Amino acid sequence: MINIAIDGPAGAGKSTIAKELAKRLNITYLDTGAMYRAVALKGLNLGVDVNDEAQVAAFLPSVDLDIRYKDGVQHVYLDGEDVSTAIREHRISRAASDVSRIPAVRLKLVEMQRDLASKYDSVLDGRDITSYVLPNANYKFFITASPEVRARRRLLELEEKGEKVDFSVLLEDIKQRDYNDSHRPFAPLTRTEDSVFIDTSDLSIDQVIETVLSYIKEK
Ligand code: C5P
Repeated sequence: MINIAIDGPAGAGKSTIAKELAKRLNITYLDTGAMYRAVALKGLNLGVDVNDEAQVAAFLPSVDLDIRYKDGVQHVYLDGEDVSTAIREHRISRAASDVSRIPAVRLKLVEMQRDLASKYDSVLDGRDITSYVLPNANYKFFITASPEVRARRRLLELEEKGEKVDFSVLLEDIKQRDYNDSHRPFAPLTRTEDSVFIDTSDLSIDQVIETVLSYIKEK
């Protein structure tokens, strides 16, 4: 079994890289952020306060989450409905960061992530994959970029989908999420010593993929 673990902050380009890597190596890609987003979407749909641990813990057992692949592309199903597009809205990003602080949420999702990784050659990306979900992964990477570069990338991504958000709002949001993700007590975003560090600020996607592949071939 081959497991590749990729961590890094929001907007660093992890999912683009992980997706392309999965395609080239013909292995399964799991975007773990999408799972936190789906739990957040359910909370918002139910009108609960996603910061309130008791309220989130109350609906958590009823979250029916399923990951399916169509032509190699990951689709997230929440209670039987494909929510892959809905979870990309900007309002979900912060709510996902909020629910991800809650240990019960993490335990439920981490179990699903480990289960998938134990069954398939796979690449998983997230915040705690190298440190907590798959500490024994064959290959580990920490991918980052400056907050400004990441906010600019998010802006372009959202604009492509027709969503208008101010650059300053996105930058503030990225900084807030960085802080939340790296300061939560349980399984925070950390750079493990055995992860290869890649700053993508001045690199193209192709350059990052070539760098990652060269480490994989070398090892
Ligand atoms: O990667 P993405 O931006 O889609 O993740 C949404 C949120 O989910 C992140 O801000 C983070 O708080 C949370 N997350 C996490 N652990 C992961 C993946 C995502 O806490 N493994």
